[in-house]
Amino acid sequence: MKEYKIIKKCRICGSKNLHKFLDFGQMSLANNFLTDDELNRVEARYPLYCLFCANCGLVQLGVVVNPRIMFCNYPYIPSGSGVMMNNFASLAYEVGKRMKFGEKSLVIDIGSNDGTLLTFFKKMGTRILGVDPAKNLSRMAQLSGVPTVTKLFNRQTAKSLVNKYGKADLVLATNVVAHIDDLYDFLRGVSTMLGSRGLFICEFPYVLDLIARNQFDTIYHEHLSYFALLPWSRIVSRLDFEIVDVARLSIHGGSLRLTHKKKSGTRRSKAVDYLVALERRHGLYDVATYEAFAKRIEGLGEKLKLVLGDFKTRGKRIIGLGAAAKGNVLTNFFDIGGDILDYIADSTPYKWGLYTPGKHIAIYPEERVEFDLPDFGLILAWNFANEIMRKHQQFKKRGGKFIIPIPEVKII
Ligand SMILES: [Zn+2]
Repeated sequence: MKEYKIIKKCRICGSKNLHKFLDFGQMSLANNFLTDDELNRVEARYPLYCLFCANCGLVQLGVVVNPRIMFCNYPYIPSGSGVMMNNFASLAYEVGKRMKFGEKSLVIDIGSNDGTLLTFFKKMGTRILGVDPAKNLSRMAQLSGVPTVTKLFNRQTAKSLVNKYGKADLVLATNVVAHIDDLYDFLRGVSTMLGSRGLFICEFPYVLDLIARNQFDTIYHEHLSYFALLPWSRIVSRLDFEIVDVARLSIHGGSLRLTHKKKSGTRRSKAVDYLVALERRHGLYDVATYEAFAKRIEGLGEKLKLVLGDFKTRGKRIIGLGAAAKGNVLTNFFDIGGDILDYIADSTPYKWGLYTPGKHIAIYPEERVEFDLPDFGLILAWNFANEIMRKHQQFKKRGGKFIIPIPEVKII
């Protein structure tokens, strides 16, 4: 594959009835933080825009950047976040209620990151195995005692894993499927991997929440698809899975957790019908909904720039809080650079001393906020807003204010 390819037909249904909306123009990769040296080189940028498939309802990017460019060194590390830990704990608890593991059972986590989720299952006394293409992360996982295969997951990988480890009782994929271009190959891989009575549990951000809460900044090159339940149920059903449970989660601004089994004729969960009806009421299968969304986002950008510009002319100092990928989308799309944000404070040591992609804003440890005392903190990682505000009580006590940009500009 070249650097990137243009999508001409829908990833799920093959239709060419695709409507373009929300064009970001040329954008740098949202997780491609830069070192001092890299600031002097030309930064790669790729087109970023959305397509709505009028046939099956899938929202997808119009461009797929080569995954080897995006995922071979991946900075996202969830174990630093309490919110993520709670979500993993709840997932493990739910599974624990449904199935009993023995010491021969096998739990596989696709996109296992630093292995955090699997450590919850390790405690249940079962075999665990992570699969992740990022070398840096799988090395971290290995060091913390989580066996991990450094590979992109697909059908071929699944076959070799089955040969070596046998079939899995549980296959997990949290925040993975949105990254997958060839969903059929991926899901065939899951099917190959999964024992006949096993469970496949998958979590992804829910497009209903994305649209309803203006979360445009979760749209970036890594996230190829933005699923509603209807198109998702269509593809899994084609691959002989049935959805036995679905739950809405608050994580990442709103996600779905779907539990699947191999088809055995049991009736599908009522929750699926309920959510599909809700999606219809929200206009998720209607192109006008997405056009209206794009308009709202334009308005949001104008409002935010106005507010920030006003503070600047009054001599106020503003910093960013949380060097999240979504923050990089927001600052680039709304053209908010180092002239507005002095720097961005972040809790991840990995990012300290680096610069944000596109806008090249410097990243510092979050402790800096407490002695530096800026006037405003723009919360860029709004999905962790409560956690961030709790951490910066001192900043608040001394008169600092938080700006939350999404779903509406709000000052606290
Ligand atoms: Zn489609």
